[in-house]
Amino acid sequence: MDSIKSQQTQELDISTLVGVVNQTGALIYSKDLKGNYTYANQLFLDMVGLPLAELVGKQDSDLFEEKTCKALQKNDKKVLDKGSTIEVEQTILFKANSKTRIYMSVKKPLRNRSGKITGLFGISTDITKRKRLEISAHEQKDFLDAILNNVDAIILMKDRNRVVRYANSFAADLFNLKQNDIIGKKDSELVSQEVADNLWQLDQEVFDTNEKQTAEELLPNLAGELKHYLTTKIPFKLKDGTATSISYSTDVTELILLKEKLLRQSITDSLTGLYNRRYFNDQCRREFSRCKRSRSAMSIIVIDIDWFKSINDKFGHPVGDIVLREVSKIYKSCLRKENILCRIGGEEFAILLSDTDHESAAILAERIRKTQEDKAIVNKLKVAIKPTISLGVSALQEKDKTFEDILKRADKALYQAKTDGRNRVCVL
Ligand code: GH3
Ligand code: MG
Ligand code: MG
Repeated sequence: MDSIKSQQTQELDISTLVGVVNQTGALIYSKDLKGNYTYANQLFLDMVGLPLAELVGKQDSDLFEEKTCKALQKNDKKVLDKGSTIEVEQTILFKANSKTRIYMSVKKPLRNRSGKITGLFGISTDITKRKRLEISAHEQKDFLDAILNNVDAIILMKDRNRVVRYANSFAADLFNLKQNDIIGKKDSELVSQEVADNLWQLDQEVFDTNEKQTAEELLPNLAGELKHYLTTKIPFKLKDGTATSISYSTDVTELILLKEKLLRQSITDSLTGLYNRRYFNDQCRREFSRCKRSRSAMSIIVIDIDWFKSINDKFGHPVGDIVLREVSKIYKSCLRKENILCRIGGEEFAILLSDTDHESAAILAERIRKTQEDKAIVNKLKVAIKPTISLGVSALQEKDKTFEDILKRADKALYQAKTDGRNRVCVL
């Protein structure tokens, strides 16, 4: 009774086992010492397009392309000669359907009762899909690396602990480090604590708002020169949930310097280097409202060179230009840094004096007049030119609506100085 049951169990077990072997997603096969196939499961048979009866006795060369066979034989030799178990990745090109699949194969020796190797068996799991995904992920990474390392910008990824998670080659060059040596470093290990803290402000905003932020940043290069960067930082979550900030910074130093130069040019008189009329008007407008609000004093002095036309006529226009430059220096020497001196016309100048009433302004105007009178301008021909100047002074009054009201009175005072005989100061 027991032996019948045991036989049934055995039969059941074998048929179950065959079922499992055939259902499994792996190729299962065995070969003898000569390389003849002795068994294969259904999946293997399907792949080679043969029934089991026909497969038995066949060799690799009957089933696979030549290149595949060479690799298989090399691996099989290791198992049969040394009796070792191997685990190898194999690319198989099937003759039956010309398909290529990639397998992870485990191969073991088969032994008889006395332990002698009689052949081998193998289980090969199809990893083609995973492998192709891996290859495509690698290709994508290479593609992204090529872009990230060739864009004309610094790209950095930092986490909340201010540790760098990624840096492109541009960033590496900036810090004179290898790309991999930056990763894992804290920002303060790359730049001074002060610079790091400044740069962190925008990252902090990204973490706080979880939104894209853009700003202009300053960063010293290896030579210690400050460079301007236009930086965009975006929030980015890593797969493990770590929040990071990715920054993209473009060097805009040249652009900023050009902008500053253009701005300077737009408010500068090219002949004398003084501010021009546009700047004078802007500053007067601003100062007028401030002084009105705070009930502070404010004065304007206008200066006009006497008989300047005759200097031009006598010595020529270029000498006239030298005179204009020289008188500018003389006026400047009489002023404080906060006084705004401008060339507002041909041979006309104006001074904006903040927190200065008409009395102090008149004293200053007289000092300028006297300094000019005493000074001779010597040109290349060693001819001394001693131009005099007339000055009009006026200060802010209660009734004034705009700074132009002060300027008009100062102009009127200047006209008065001219008609009164020139080389004098008039206050209105
Ligand atoms: P007044 O005492 O009445 O001011 O007489 P003036 O000759 O100084 O005045 P006028 O307005 O008749 O002449 C101003 C002269 O300034 C005329 C113009 O050729 C000259 N001028 C204006 N701009 C420049 C300049 O940039 N360079 C030179 N060299 N001369 C200039
Ligand atoms: Mg004039
Ligand atoms: Mg003049």
